[in-house]
Amino acid sequence: MIQTLDVSVVYNGGPPALRDVSLRIEKGEFIFIVGPTGMGKSTFLKLINREAVPAKGKVIVAGRDITKLEARHIPELRRQIGVVFQDFQLLPQKTVWENVAFALQAIGADRHRIYREVPRALELVSLTHKANSYPQELSGGEQQRVSIARAIVNNPAIVLADEPTGNLDPETSWDIVQLLSKINIRGSTVVVATHDKYIVDGMKKRVVAIENGQVVRDEPGGYHHAVTEELGILPP
Ligand code: ADP
Ligand code: MG
Repeated sequence: MIQTLDVSVVYNGGPPALRDVSLRIEKGEFIFIVGPTGMGKSTFLKLINREAVPAKGKVIVAGRDITKLEARHIPELRRQIGVVFQDFQLLPQKTVWENVAFALQAIGADRHRIYREVPRALELVSLTHKANSYPQELSGGEQQRVSIARAIVNNPAIVLADEPTGNLDPETSWDIVQLLSKINIRGSTVVVATHDKYIVDGMKKRVVAIENGQVVRDEPGGYHHAVTEELGILPP
């Protein structure tokens, strides 16, 4: 569970990027944070992995107020969180396999675990056949799938995706958001910041709109996407 209570974030004395934001995200939820550029979406995600520290309010992640977290405990928090970025942020000199393995090496996983989990993650994103390719040999959608594999290889409780479809065409964007939905169904809480109306409208998930640092709308999700698939309802 993720909860913010009356959170405000101020960057170097400027106007608040977030103002008195109180939002509760349940364990296992899939939620979109939407709103125009500059309205505070990325800042909201940064609160959750403690890249941003609020000027006031509480941020509770897995039962803990992380605003009070000591620096030495931050890696522990971040180990429970996978992050996906708009620009993929893959290491160009490493192969797909190595990029995903790197996330596990960074947290001190042993070889046994790496050789077990990397193939699983690549399988999940359907990129087993590209394991030995380099990022520049992949399409944008494939690169984003690698970055999703990297984000989830550690089985995180939470996945944060900041404009994950920002560099992709509509069809590929739809695939990526479906993949994030699959990861949600596997058990991770997924928070997606986006201004991409196409993917939001197609998904029938909870949508929280942020404008000028405040929550202006919070619409509950419709039926679960797995159900829409069963019924054969197609995306727009
Ligand atoms: P969004 O993701 O919705 O585009 P952001 O959360 O990135 O919005 O930004 C919200 C506001 O905070 C904007 O006015 C932006 O300029 C400002 N901001 C974001 N990050 C920083 C930073 N590191 N330093 C100063 N201002 C920032
Ligand atoms: Mg942003």
